[in-house]
Amino acid sequence: MTLANIRNPDAHPDIVHPPGTSAHREPQGGNYGERLNKLRAAVLGANDGIVSVAATVVGVAGATTDRGAVALVAAAALAAGALSMALGEYVSVSSQKDSQNALIELETRELEEMPREEFDELVQILREKGMSEETAKAAAADLTEHNALKAHLDFELGIDEEDIPSPLGAAIASALAFFGGALLPILAILLPPAGLAVPVTFGVVLLALAVTGWLGAVLGGSPHRLRAALRLVAGGALALAATFAIGSALGTGAMG
Ligand SMILES: [Zn+2]
Repeated sequence: MTLANIRNPDAHPDIVHPPGTSAHREPQGGNYGERLNKLRAAVLGANDGIVSVAATVVGVAGATTDRGAVALVAAAALAAGALSMALGEYVSVSSQKDSQNALIELETRELEEMPREEFDELVQILREKGMSEETAKAAAADLTEHNALKAHLDFELGIDEEDIPSPLGAAIASALAFFGGALLPILAILLPPAGLAVPVTFGVVLLALAVTGWLGAVLGGSPHRLRAALRLVAGGALALAATFAIGSALGTGAMG
C-alpha cells in the first residue's frame, strides 16, 4: 500500500460513510445524503401540516357549517403550527450546533496541548478501519500535516466543519414544509360545496398521507413503503374521525 493509494478515496471505500444512514452523524456521505435528509425532513414537516391542520378544520366543520369560522380556525392552525415547527426546529438545531462547536473547541485545544496523543489516536482509528500500523502512521502523518483538525473532526467525531447546520435555515424550511402540507386540507375544506367539504377533505388528506408515507419510506431507505403508507393513512383516518366526532358532539351540545 502506497501513500498514493491512501490519498485516493476509491482505494478505501470503507472510509466513506454510506449516505442517508443517520440524520445526526452525517459526516461526509457527501451532499447526497445531506440532501436526502433535508428532503425527508420536508416530507415529515408537510405530514405534520396535513394531519394537524386537517384534524383541526374537520373538527370545526363537525361543529359548525359556518365557513367563515372554519377559514378563521384554519388560518390560526396554519400560523400556530408553522411557528411552533419553526421554533422547535430552531431550538433543536441550535443545540446540535452548540454541541458541535463545543466539540470543535475541545478538539482544537487537545491538538494544541497534546499533539502526540492526538496523533496516536488518529493512528488507532485508522488501524481500526483496517490499515496496517505502517500505513496508518503514514496516513495519519499525511492527514495531520494537511489539516489536523479537519482529520480529527472527521475520523473521530464525524463532524464536517463546513457543514455546521444553520438553525434559521432549518426553522424556515420546516415552517415552509408545514405550510405546504397544511394548504391541502385547507383548500379541501373550503373549496367544495358545503355538503361535500368533509368527505372531500377526508379523501384528499388520506391520499396525501399515502403519498407522503410512501415518499418518506423511499427517502429514509426503508423497503417497507406500502406498510409506511398504510400506517400513516390509518393514523390520519383515526385522527380525522376523532376530531370530527368531538366537533360534532360539541357542536350539537352547544346548539342544543
Ligand atoms: Zn482527536
